[in-house]
Amino acid sequence: MRNPSLDIDLDALGANYRRFQGGGAEIAAVVKCDAYGLGAPRVAQRLYDREGCRTFFVAYSEEGAELRQGLGGRDADIVVFNGPFAETISLYRAHRLIPTINTLEQASLWANSAPGAPAALHVDTGMNRLGLAGADIGVAAAIPSLVIALVMSHLACASETDHPMTERQRRQFEAAAQSFPKARRSLSASGGALMGERFAFDLVRAGVGLYGVGPQDAPDASLATVATLSAPVLQVRRAAAGETVGYGASQTLARDSRLAAVSLGYGDGYPRAASGRGHAVLNGALCPIIGRVSMDLIVLDATDAPVPAIGDRAEFFGPRLPIEAAAAAAGTIGYELLTGVGGLARPRPGLGGRVVRRYVEAHGRDGAARET
Ligand SMILES: *Cc1c(COP(=O)(O)O)cnc(C)c1O
Repeated sequence: MRNPSLDIDLDALGANYRRFQGGGAEIAAVVKCDAYGLGAPRVAQRLYDREGCRTFFVAYSEEGAELRQGLGGRDADIVVFNGPFAETISLYRAHRLIPTINTLEQASLWANSAPGAPAALHVDTGMNRLGLAGADIGVAAAIPSLVIALVMSHLACASETDHPMTERQRRQFEAAAQSFPKARRSLSASGGALMGERFAFDLVRAGVGLYGVGPQDAPDASLATVATLSAPVLQVRRAAAGETVGYGASQTLARDSRLAAVSLGYGDGYPRAASGRGHAVLNGALCPIIGRVSMDLIVLDATDAPVPAIGDRAEFFGPRLPIEAAAAAAGTIGYELLTGVGGLARPRPGLGGRVVRRYVEAHGRDGAARET
């Protein structure tokens, strides 16, 4: 295949799900943003069928409706972070979605339009993003037809170990949760869960860690690599010291070089900010990106690599090059790189070219990996 590809290892996904288990808390999968660009239907099906995952979180009610269809007849809870609005109530009904109540307006909307139907409630414990705070929590708790099945909050600093805000939020969360004695409690996403069981409560909302990305913006050795971005070499040339490479002639060669032009660019979601800073692994050698990342081409300095052939694939992130390092070279984090590339990827070849998503998973007794 001459397309760049995003290869998704579903067995590694399963291993990462199991990595979060064991503390007694239910592990829910956050599959918003099309499962961080990896494709929500396949990710959710795998986690449901093989790992026993029964709760999924999305951001939009439309995502929830699509996920309900993607799950076929599987009976899972689908919780929507953004919560209900008058114009989306019908989606909640039609697809049995569970809203997250973030405001008093949403609390009364849900209580009036679906009295007695379970909801999650988001309390703000200092992030100042979404959720009820202060006296509003008690007001929501007093609405008779509002059934809160899950009370949740979100940690601001779980990407840093031992940040003092984390403990403050934990205490504030426990206090707020007392207003909902029958509700299950959820505080942690991937980062909080990996900090220890004190933060797990009844339900963990695991997102990025399932997809093999370290929530602390650095590789986490306990997580398996799920996503690999690779792209084929289109042309190899020699260029002399003093010549320049790419748009803007931004980089001048310091030595006689061997250059490999590779089929990937910012149009595929690979950040232009990696120009002159990022790397890819080609034939086992780490090759710098030289010159600017263009819309669908990147030039690698392959002078120190075994001579590449046309069609050899360069890995931009994956088992040989951690996504956290690739993201840092572009001034960003693994979350953004993954959703950026994955969000533009096509489900199969032939749909307008560009990055193709491929799933790899072991089938049958021989355990041989197969692409689907
Ligand atoms: C995105 C999100 C998560 C998942 O976070 P990760 O860091 O990817 O595990 C959990 N909870 C809320 C409220 C979120 O918005």
